[in-house]
Amino acid sequence: SAAAASASYVVGVDVGSTTVRCHVYDKRAAVRGSSSKKVETLHPHLGWVELDPEVLWTQFMDVIKEAVQAAGLQMNQIAGLGISTQRGTFITWNKKTGKPFHNFISWQDLRAAELVNSWNRCLILKVIRVIATILHFFTRNDRYVTASSLTFTTHHVSLRLSWVLQNITEVQRAANENNCCFGTVDTWLLYKLTKGSVYATDYSNASSTGVFEPFQMCWSSVLSKLFSIPMSIYPPVEDTNHSFGSVDAEIFGVPIPIVALVADQQAAMFGECCFHPGDVKLTMGTGIFWDVNTGNHIHTPSAGLYPLIGWKIGKEVVFLAEGDTSDAGSTIKWAKELDLFTSVDETARMARGVVDSEGVCFVPSFSGLQVPVNDPYACASFMGLKLSTTRNHLVRAILESVAFRNKQLYDTIVKEVRVPLTNIRADGGISNNSFIMQMTSDLINKKIDKPVNTDMSCLGAAFLAGLALGFWTDKEQLKKLRRTEIVFEPQRDSGEYKLAMDNWTKAVQRSLNWYN
Ligand code: ADP
Repeated sequence: SAAAASASYVVGVDVGSTTVRCHVYDKRAAVRGSSSKKVETLHPHLGWVELDPEVLWTQFMDVIKEAVQAAGLQMNQIAGLGISTQRGTFITWNKKTGKPFHNFISWQDLRAAELVNSWNRCLILKVIRVIATILHFFTRNDRYVTASSLTFTTHHVSLRLSWVLQNITEVQRAANENNCCFGTVDTWLLYKLTKGSVYATDYSNASSTGVFEPFQMCWSSVLSKLFSIPMSIYPPVEDTNHSFGSVDAEIFGVPIPIVALVADQQAAMFGECCFHPGDVKLTMGTGIFWDVNTGNHIHTPSAGLYPLIGWKIGKEVVFLAEGDTSDAGSTIKWAKELDLFTSVDETARMARGVVDSEGVCFVPSFSGLQVPVNDPYACASFMGLKLSTTRNHLVRAILESVAFRNKQLYDTIVKEVRVPLTNIRADGGISNNSFIMQMTSDLINKKIDKPVNTDMSCLGAAFLAGLALGFWTDKEQLKKLRRTEIVFEPQRDSGEYKLAMDNWTKAVQRSLNWYN
């Protein structure tokens, strides 16, 4: 039909932690229209981080409408929709009424920190680790290596979901009556977009929950039993890009196909065209995420890099190994709110305005320190302040802390992942910071490629959607659409940072276990 022939645009939406953004892409992957909204987080108690599901849903619809309008298009010119979402943020709702039992509980939420800590130290887990180590010794089956170093974090859904079941009686009751739906952000949006007729998630989102078994590609019955989570509350898991269903015609006036659901880091990986084993992407937004493509090999963790499903497209399943840090952009946002600077664009210049931080160290631990430190009780801190310390020194210490965390994560990857690393590609808001980018490149002694388009999760979701629609033919075509803006090359010897990094490592040591 004429309408189908003119449906020559793909929409990518990324529901991030600070923003919900939408871009409308044409065949050349050029952005034709955009819209974004700030995500509002709620903090009902100290350490709790929630999102209002209705507010998020409204923002989601609005960014799509506004981006299509900004592109000067009609909804019937949109061939399909790809949705990238923040991971590990979940909600539960009543299967019969569709009514949520509580707000979204964010991946940043710390209410399960105590549960996480006691589980990581408990006897059952120690026994599981020993048994798994013995089984691995005799069978050489990598499956057991994962269990031999099994540790939990607050980012995983598992213990926060366990908390919900223990503390919200309505949820437990509904779960017992088989009337409870659990969903990550993708699942909730799909459910809303289809007016309750489609209930599903994709492999990348499922694998980011920590209750999914990558070796068997199903929800983990062992972990669910361990945490008393009934298996009946999980959604069906489907391929990352295929026809999930259509947007109910009442919402946008026409039924737009929903053709990709993908977790944000995996989406960014796809947007960066990290299709081959050894390809690395570094996303620096609210948090930092290093991801390595490990091909069909499931990474076996030891220092806390965890294995994930990158995507499943038909028979192709790509696995990733990931290391992260929660506080990067969040730290910069905090510093801005304190008026350490007026615009983030000034920060690189301010940092270069002093020769060093004058011994000031910043530990970016508003929500604990992750890989390879793994301490949810570490505190954020400034150390080594002097009467001569200026704003520039403080800003420099903050930016340096981001680069130091990058160095720690990179070293962990090199140590743990046996695939030789090839390209390193960076994106996210902080990739615009030339000081952090250059210092990271110096510290790891590697080139870092930054593309023109830094909203990689949006692009990745659109790429996946476009492939499913036949809008783009294959990955080779996508690679040609990716464009580099700048390549950061190592300029200084990493040894020049040794003193500063040693000092910073000492500050990290002193911040550990503060809240315990
Ligand atoms: P997310 O996807 O997690 O919502 P983004 O990728 O949009 O995050 O990145 C937003 C973050 O990046 C914000 O916290 C912001 O402070 C930070 N940011 C943006 N530009 C810069 C810059 N030039 N220097 C430092 N930080 C920046």
